[in-house]
Amino acid sequence: MRAKLFRVLVFLGTAGVVAAAWWTGTLRAQADLMEQGRRQLELLAPDLQSAMEKYETLPFVLGFQPDLIQALAHTDDAPTIARLNQSLQTIQQQAKVGAIYMMDRTGLTLGASNWDQPLGFVGKNFSYRPYFNEALHGRAGLFYGIGTSTSEAGYFIAQPVYRNGTAGGPVAGVVVAKISLADFEQTWRSSEHAIALADRHGVIFLSNQPQWRYRSLQPLSAATTQELAHTQQYMGQTVAPLPAHPGQFAARPVGRLGWQLMLFPSQARVARAGLQWALAAVLLLSCAAASWWALHQRRRRLEERKESRQALQQAARELDSRIVERTQQLRETNHDLENKYARLKAAEQMLRSTQNELVQAGKLAMLGQMAAGVTHELNQPLAAIRAFADNARTFLQRGQPAQAEANLGHIGDASARMGAIISQLKGFARKDEAICAVDMAKPVRASAFMMESEFRRHGVALAIDAGAEPDAVPLLVAGDPVRIEQVLINLLRNALDAVEESPERQVCITLARVDDHAEVRISDSGGGIPEQVAAHLFEPFYTTKPSGKGLGLGLAISSSIVQAMNGQLTAHNLPGGGAQFVLRLPLQLESTNASHPH
Ligand code: ADP
Repeated sequence: MRAKLFRVLVFLGTAGVVAAAWWTGTLRAQADLMEQGRRQLELLAPDLQSAMEKYETLPFVLGFQPDLIQALAHTDDAPTIARLNQSLQTIQQQAKVGAIYMMDRTGLTLGASNWDQPLGFVGKNFSYRPYFNEALHGRAGLFYGIGTSTSEAGYFIAQPVYRNGTAGGPVAGVVVAKISLADFEQTWRSSEHAIALADRHGVIFLSNQPQWRYRSLQPLSAATTQELAHTQQYMGQTVAPLPAHPGQFAARPVGRLGWQLMLFPSQARVARAGLQWALAAVLLLSCAAASWWALHQRRRRLEERKESRQALQQAARELDSRIVERTQQLRETNHDLENKYARLKAAEQMLRSTQNELVQAGKLAMLGQMAAGVTHELNQPLAAIRAFADNARTFLQRGQPAQAEANLGHIGDASARMGAIISQLKGFARKDEAICAVDMAKPVRASAFMMESEFRRHGVALAIDAGAEPDAVPLLVAGDPVRIEQVLINLLRNALDAVEESPERQVCITLARVDDHAEVRISDSGGGIPEQVAAHLFEPFYTTKPSGKGLGLGLAISSSIVQAMNGQLTAHNLPGGGAQFVLRLPLQLESTNASHPH
């Protein structure tokens, strides 16, 4: 709203200044031109005046010419008239005037310088002209008008011709010189201002504006119109006022007939001056506006630069603080992570030891389960040893040392067998793991051997196929033989459990090389793994067995042992019924020196 008002005010101000400039320019030009016009009139008017006055004496002098006086005395004498015409013509040519002619007292022209021209004055009567009357009464007659016969305008100067050639005597005729003022008009043409010469009625008869001729500045009165008609001053032309008043003018009186020489300053020049001033004002205002605008722009640019610099500084400050903040956050996060990592490490450590303990617990649990079988296994040779010993004593008492020695041999065998069983159990109970190259046939045989008595007790057939040829290349894997045995014993025990209720009770353990792996398969003729069990098979504490019999840890521990050796433990059901567990361990191909822990 304020901006709009401001704009309107600026526009009005600008318009006002331009208008004022135009007005000032116009007034000044008008005044200047008026002054110039006045000065020009000072030069033009005397020129005109002197030209008119110069010829005033000519007819006066002619009045005393004998030729003229004689012609008036002998108006009918042709030679005299001819001489008159001749001399008038000669004088006219010498004096360079428009025409010279002489009338008698009635106004009839007796002789004229243009006697030999078609529109010559001879024979014409000009008694109606005022100059004729003036001269007839002994005064100089001055008149300006359009010639009735030639239609040419001119200044007429008339003087009396006295009868005896003595001034003041009776007047016999009138002699007139007609002067053309057209030359002046021609001179004025070069002026850019309108110049006009008007008679005492205000009728313009000479001007450098041709359309102004015989026009009045003001409407003429009726008396004036009548007078003009009588004197035929302008040959009966109706004098109309100028269609539009030409405006201010400078004027100066000329001659003795109340004439006014007028100069109208060029309106075009005035308008041009006004326009120039207005244009100058516009230019000046434009310059002012442009400089104001440039200044304004510059100030704005500086301000903008300052603002952007401030914004930049602010941004930099913010960035700095953000960086500090983020650094702090990162430090804290890092610290957090370190803490978490340490806790994770501790947890891992704990897990590892827990796992070890779990493995050990699994082993011990298995040992417990095996205890009955082992007891039975050890009992047999023990009983045999006792019987052999008793018999040996009897043989010795009977004096049969050879028999006694044979029995001692049997005792040795039986105790060796017991030693083997015990050493297996000792090795199995060992807590630390020892990674080495293991010939897979050995744990397979060892586990089968350890479970043999139990299978037998339950009346389950156990078939082994641990690589038939004894001299075949051993399948070596990197691992702990005790742990591998632990896995296999666990699988054999599960198989034994699985076939417990089955009509056909059979378990088979095989070893074979498949690609880069040693593969042990334990198959049974049990009921197989039910679908809902398969999903949880390797989960710890998952068991389908009655409490006291199963802990649900066997497969979980076995799986983790196998994974620790980069192997896999999987299970699937056989098409003919029963389950098959597959243990796959990567072969240690490059290594050749296998250690033999058993
Ligand atoms: P546990 O023997 O103490 O139950 P395991 O982890 O060794 O624990 O076995 C988990 C479960 O897997 C067993 O309860 C049984 O249901 C199933 N399972 C294991 N082996 C076999 C098999 N050979 N045939 C059928 N089911 C089996």
